[in-house]
Amino acid sequence: MALEHTLSIIKPDAVAKRAIGEILATFEQAGLSVVATKMKRLTRAEAEAFYAVHADRPFYAPLVEFMLSGPVVISVLAGENAVMHHRQLMGATDPTAAAPGTIRARFASNTRENAVHGSDSVENAQNEIAFFFAQTELCH
Ligand code: ATP
Ligand code: MG
Repeated sequence: MALEHTLSIIKPDAVAKRAIGEILATFEQAGLSVVATKMKRLTRAEAEAFYAVHADRPFYAPLVEFMLSGPVVISVLAGENAVMHHRQLMGATDPTAAAPGTIRARFASNTRENAVHGSDSVENAQNEIAFFFAQTELCH
């Protein structure tokens, strides 16, 4: 296994539920380190570009509106096998299919408002980290 970095977003629904602390604690207790974090409201351009891979899907427009509905917490996590480890902690996209104890099982409302985002490959993680952070903002 290799030391990896991945991008985490605590989505507006979970911020509104005051779950930021519990979600970051879940990452830390599982052995992932937070090496950068910030809270912000996405711009429409950021939300559209970040999910551009889904632009042709019927859920794209409401997904963008959801991501603009409140502030998000964007973090870079580091650790062994961090990309897939983080995805395992998140659980399935549809919370009714998410394994018990996963973040989405605990905090997601439905398939759209599902509490967290996580990069799905090392290559996408590198691109998503660069989308939101300068290399000088990562604390190693
Ligand atoms: P994310 O990319 O946010 O980490 P994911 O990789 O589990 O989630 P994707 O297939 O990449 O899922 O979808 C991106 C996001 O789009 C989902 O997290 C969810 O918020 C929304 N989404 C996906 N599928 C649906 C759907 N069928 N209905 C409504 N929203 C959806
Ligand atoms: Mg995805």
